[in-house]
Amino acid sequence: MSISMPSRIFIYYFVLITATYLFFFSSSSLRADEAILQAPSRLEAGDPALVKFLLPVKPGSVPPVMLFMEREFPIYPLADNQGWAGIIGADLRAEPGEYILSLRQTDQILARRNIVVAARSGGARDIRVDDKYVSPPDQVIERIKAESQRQNDVYLLNTSPVFWTDGLLTPLNSAVVGKFGRSSIINGQPRSPHGGVDLRGAPGTAVKCPAEGRVVLAMDTYFSGLLVLLDHGQGLISGYRHLSKILVNEGDMLTQGQIIGLVGATGRVTGPHLHFDIHLKNATIDPLKFVRLSLELAALIQDKNR
Ligand SMILES: [Zn+2]
Repeated sequence: MSISMPSRIFIYYFVLITATYLFFFSSSSLRADEAILQAPSRLEAGDPALVKFLLPVKPGSVPPVMLFMEREFPIYPLADNQGWAGIIGADLRAEPGEYILSLRQTDQILARRNIVVAARSGGARDIRVDDKYVSPPDQVIERIKAESQRQNDVYLLNTSPVFWTDGLLTPLNSAVVGKFGRSSIINGQPRSPHGGVDLRGAPGTAVKCPAEGRVVLAMDTYFSGLLVLLDHGQGLISGYRHLSKILVNEGDMLTQGQIIGLVGATGRVTGPHLHFDIHLKNATIDPLKFVRLSLELAALIQDKNR
């Protein structure tokens, strides 16, 4: 009995689609991905996460490309050469949804998994400040725009070499007085969520450089007061706001622990504190969580014989 041409085409496509489906979605391949690609299955907007990719490192091999939320995050060989590790981040302003984390080499996908990014559940802060910070006068609008543009340009930097793989120090060892990521109601009006953490500090307390880095911005700004932005390489930028004094200059190369400036109450504040923020590949993420993960990453990738 012969099979008609349309039936043959149907069978051909049926087999092709079934094979494709089994190849990409079979439970065994998913399990394999989970075993070699270790990452949380859920994050909140603004969360960083440590990712481990357990594919043995061949001598001289180039690192795979780690992609998440349209950003390429840096990845480093584990000290035992049994795989790779890096930190990803879901931007604080990210749309909630399901996103793909993938590890690629040239055009080949080595592993991938889905990560749910949920809205941040940090609650709201309700603060009162001088009205000029809620309804700025016309003559400062251009200044505010220009300052915001300069900062946004810095967040896009992606320089080498990398200075943060030994882990970060906290710039000020003190209590958190303003949590990262809370939505903001300022003088009764909704404003963007809190893009950093506020650390308690008496005016004049020294703010320390958390990791080697270059001063890319040191200026007096309308909202952040005296502000310093540091570039630590491979897309990691840190920020220090509301300082009473800046003790570094743009272009300076700083060492870990060096004093950047002094705690103050300049710009839009309710009192003296340090606002510390972290941006990785232009994703604004929880700075204290990032400091903790940077130390975990350092322990995984550091060569004990170095
Ligand atoms: Zn703050």
